[in-house]
Order: sequence, then C-alpha cells, then structure tokens
Amino acid sequence: GIILRSLVAGTDTEVPLANGKCVTAINFDNAATTPPFCSVLKEIAKFAPWYASIHRGKGYKSIMSSELYERGRDIVRDFVKADKRDAVIFTKNTTESINMLAYALAAENKDQVILSTDMEHLSNDLPWRDKFTVDYVTINKYGRLSLKDLEAKLQAYAGKVKLVTVTGASNVTGYINPVYKIAITAHNYGAKIFVDGAQWVPHAPVDMKPYDSPEHIDYLAFSAHKMYAPFGAGVLIGPKNFFANITPVYQGGGAVGLVSRQFIEWADPPVKYEAGTPNMMGVLALITAINTMSELNMSHIHSYERQLIDYAIKGLSVIPGVTLYSCRDGNEERVSLISFSLEGLHHSQVAEIVSREAGIAVRNGLFCAHPYVEKLLRLSDEEIQYYLTHDDQNIPGMVRISFGIYNNCREIDIFLDLLSHIAGHRKYYADKYRYVLAPG
Ligand code: PMP
Repeated sequence: GIILRSLVAGTDTEVPLANGKCVTAINFDNAATTPPFCSVLKEIAKFAPWYASIHRGKGYKSIMSSELYERGRDIVRDFVKADKRDAVIFTKNTTESINMLAYALAAENKDQVILSTDMEHLSNDLPWRDKFTVDYVTINKYGRLSLKDLEAKLQAYAGKVKLVTVTGASNVTGYINPVYKIAITAHNYGAKIFVDGAQWVPHAPVDMKPYDSPEHIDYLAFSAHKMYAPFGAGVLIGPKNFFANITPVYQGGGAVGLVSRQFIEWADPPVKYEAGTPNMMGVLALITAINTMSELNMSHIHSYERQLIDYAIKGLSVIPGVTLYSCRDGNEERVSLISFSLEGLHHSQVAEIVSREAGIAVRNGLFCAHPYVEKLLRLSDEEIQYYLTHDDQNIPGMVRISFGIYNNCREIDIFLDLLSHIAGHRKYYADKYRYVLAPG
C-alpha cells in the first residue's frame, strides 16, 4: 500500500474542514477521475520542451512526437490484447469514442437494433437512442444483468441485433459483467459486441481475444483520466476494415490524403478518425500510465483493490441504517467501488458531511446512470416525475466510494469510523448540514 501510494501525485494534499482545521485529503472518488501517476507528470515535464505537431512536420521534434504517438497505438493494443487488424483510434474520452462508434454504425446501417442494458452509464445509452431502435437487457433484484433476458431478446429480434453494447464494469455497483459469455451469446446471433471499458480497463486485466474466438470483443473504449493520466485522451478500438468503409463524423485536416473540390481521399483508419491536430501529450500521458500499470501488473492491481473493496463492504454492512446496492456474498466479480445510502440522511448530506468533517471525497447522486440507479432504488416513473417537477432538492440517489491503487485500509477505517458516528448521531448531522438541501 505504501509503495503504491508513493507512485501517485497529490496523496499528501491538505484540504480544509468545517472546523477550519486542515487534514490530508482522502480521495474515494476514483471512479470519476484518478489523480495522475508521478511517472506521468515526470514524462510530461520531460517531453514538454520537445513536443510538436505530429504527422505533417519534417522537423526533428515533429518526427519524434509522431513516433511516440504512433508507438502509443501498439502500447494500447498490447495492454488490452487487441488484434493487429484493429484500429486504435485516439479520442477525447469514452463518451466521444461511443458517439463516434454510434455514428459510424448508423452510417453503415440504421435499420437494425442496438441491444443495450439497464446498467449503462448515459454515455453508453444516449448516443444510441437517436440513431437506432434500442432495447435494454434487464437486471435482476441485485442489479446483475440477466443473461437469460439477453438471450431471449437476441432470439426475439431474430438476427436484427447489430450490436450488444454493455459496460465492462458498472460505475454504480462495481459489478464486472461476464463480457466473454455475453460475446459468445451475441456472436451466436450474428451480433457484434461493444464493451464500455471506462470502469473496467483501469481495474482489471482486459483481453479483447483473437478475431476467431467466440469470446472476441469487437469494439472497446476507455478514458485516460480514470487510469492515472490527466484529462483529454481516450481510446476507441475496432476493426480497421469497418472504419475504412465509413465516412467519419469529425471531418477536417489530418484525416485525409488528397482533397480537391470534387473529391476527398480519406486517410486509412485510425488516422481517418482523428481529424484536427491530435492530442499528442494526452497520448504520451496515457501510454506512460499504461506502462506503469503494466509494470505493477493488472492482476495484482485487481486483487489489491479487491481486498480494499471487500474490507469496505464488510465494514459498511455492519453500520446501522446503511443499505448497500449490490449483493453481499463476497464472491461476485467486481471492481473497487460500491454505492450505498444511510437512512435518515440525504445522499448529498452524507457526501457533504464526510468532506467537511474528514476531508473525504465521495460521489453522490445518480452517477450519470439514471435508469440503473432509479431501478436499484425501485423508483416508479411517477415518483421520478414528481421529484423532477415538485421537489428537485430531494431527488433520491446514492453515495459512492471508489478506490484506486493508492488507497489503503487505514483510510477506509477513518471513513467507516466517521460513518458509524454519523449513523449514531443522525439528528445532529442532519441539523448541522440542513443547508445542503436548502432551496436555492
Ligand atoms: N462509462 C462509464 C461506465 C463511466 O463510468 C464513465 C465515466 N463516469 C463513462 C462511460 C464516461 O467516461 P468519460 O466521461 O471519460 O467520457
């Protein structure tokens, strides 16, 4: 734990509390964004005097920058075991990757069905809605995907499903989905599979598997800022052949060979999908983070984080009034996050209290996965409508804690002790933090 902590920047940052004192910040909001690795910051500082616009320049710096950027594709490819025939496209983030993919698949054929699921982040839900007929695989009472329903829906659409789009790991419950089983089922019915890797790739070993494997993942996306590199870089991976045949949604300089008033000669993918000056430093940061994670070993990262989340779940489940939104058998495949609520306090109060009383950053609300959270909270459409129109201060939601490799059990103890204290003094805290819910 201590060694891992020293790899990440900002772990000793002090933040102010409600009582005016300062404490070392505890960040349990890694599912939103992780702090950067020191190695990443070092590499950025080292390369900053050398960067130049890539691909076009003959200058020494431009050639060096271009080489680094292009080498980045292979580092990403190896990290998730993508096929040589795949294009590794650099994007802004997962959201942009999914929008680009949705646009490209719609340009190919709109008349088919996209099979999404009830547990998706809005970034893997909304981009599909206005382009295709979309249906959603249901969840069971624990919020797990129903593989029976997946098969039933694929069967019912009788070969019309173009793509099954599913998250690798949920940003609400932390469940890792059985993506390889889902891939086999999707392929059996002639559908392809896209995996939203935003919460999966940073926390577990990922293998897209060979093209001829029924477990092959056809498309994958993820974001650098959730894996110890700063904002601004993301990845979309999929077959070069597919992208070669589709006109890209973003068009402009850099994505073409030769253009006249009469014709456009597009570059080959991935370059065809990277119009505009590429974010070379973002890619440098991403590949440095990937190299550091690979050195640490993704299996080790996964099992260390698993220990952290198991420890937190055990502690949370004995605090009176805590409801955990996932099953508690301890065996389910998961990444290092969990959502909960505390009876008698609104989720935004709990988040405010732990921040103001102990400098602990958590996330609260509906986590950009509104339909999933609404289902887990058993909210009816009428209730949602009511809150929207009459009581938006009190919109239900959850509190989420999410760990990175640099967190430890001592930090979890501080959090659990405080939460136990809050649970035992609900009225005191509800009064003190009433302003959180004050109108306006
Ligand atoms: N999918 C999931 C499961 C996520 O958790 C997130 C980020 N919260 C996204 C997609 C979107 O990622 P980004 O904001 O980096 O585009």
